[in-house]
Amino acid sequence: MSSLEFNNNNNNNYTDCDRNKIKEVRDEIPSFEELYNISEILKAISDPLRLKILYLLKKEELCACYITSTLDKPQSTVSHHLSILKKSQIVKWRKMGKWTYFSLSNPRIIEHIENIIKIDSDNCFNNNINSSNINNAKVCCGSSEPTDESKVENPKVPSKEIAIKDLKHFERIAKDLGIVDVGYTKIPKKIFSNNNDLDYSNAIVITKEIPDEIIQEPIGANGYDLNQAFYKLFGNLTYKLSDFLRKKGIQTQVAHPKGNLIDLSKLAQDACIGCIGKSNLLITPKLGPNLKIGAIFTSAENLPFSKENNHNWIKNYCKKCNNCIKHCRMDSLIEKENEGIVEIKDNCIGCTEACTLCIEVCPFYKKGYKKIKEKQNKLVKML
Ligand code: SF4
Ligand code: SF4
Repeated sequence: MSSLEFNNNNNNNYTDCDRNKIKEVRDEIPSFEELYNISEILKAISDPLRLKILYLLKKEELCACYITSTLDKPQSTVSHHLSILKKSQIVKWRKMGKWTYFSLSNPRIIEHIENIIKIDSDNCFNNNINSSNINNAKVCCGSSEPTDESKVENPKVPSKEIAIKDLKHFERIAKDLGIVDVGYTKIPKKIFSNNNDLDYSNAIVITKEIPDEIIQEPIGANGYDLNQAFYKLFGNLTYKLSDFLRKKGIQTQVAHPKGNLIDLSKLAQDACIGCIGKSNLLITPKLGPNLKIGAIFTSAENLPFSKENNHNWIKNYCKKCNNCIKHCRMDSLIEKENEGIVEIKDNCIGCTEACTLCIEVCPFYKKGYKKIKEKQNKLVKML
């Protein structure tokens, strides 16, 4: 009888032999600190561009400008990725005159990475193929939907009605948590990023102001970290609000502010919170374009859906403004001629480096919605 069988049959009363075995296995596990360091290194290499850099450095030390031109990416993007590799000590660097040279700290790292891939290459590649098929629409930086961190389970039998007092309570909690707008809308299936078959057809959309420290932070790795921390914070608040509804018997699903489940700007526009400008950002009376959006899909059907969007005049204002398109240093905003539609190219560094330039140059950020609307109304009266 093996020690495991012995355990099963004896209510886990460990024998000396089992204790020795457990100790033996435990002794082989690295310390928490070592495991933490390993996970940081794995995080640092889990990006296609950073892997590409490591492959470039496989044979020799290279100058930063050579790496930038070989990757054919903006210098700021390459610097950001190099700084992550530097921080985790996967690459080392030295300065010579005005040039910076990079090399692998451990020349065998590529070999180690390839060994990891060999562990389960079939599963690994199959999973990749599936996920790329699903995520066929680009939303923002296209990051996948974060893992659900709800603390309250969905009620088994969903309630389709929320009591008015509970909805008011929900809105009060949201306000206390720093949520600026709360809007309600039916979910148009066409704006899903994935082929998602949701059980819910209603959404509560919420916005939160991007803190000044992110707006003021220069483009780069630090801005990226601040941006990620803000996404996490806002995501947690969204789960908190969703949990409140679950406790009231309402089924919910969170669309994380950082996720790609749905086009959140379009959803917020449908909830009449604001209007999407040429920057492809939602512009609202309270926050201008300086916001992030989250949503909670819900079984509750008696929500106070907004019927009319009073902010559509922004589209006309944008026609003459063009500030965001003119100032984007990456030329990421492309306007389709005569269609008034703006596309964001993949080289946008809004999510990867916390670029906020198209927010900062927007008159709705600089002057505020109210002033622009008053001016616009005066102009209309004069005509
Ligand atoms: S200004 Fe920055 S965030 Fe805006 S589109 Fe251009 S690169 Fe992206
Ligand atoms: S910068 Fe100008 S064109 Fe761009 S979204 Fe703002 S108002 Fe519209």
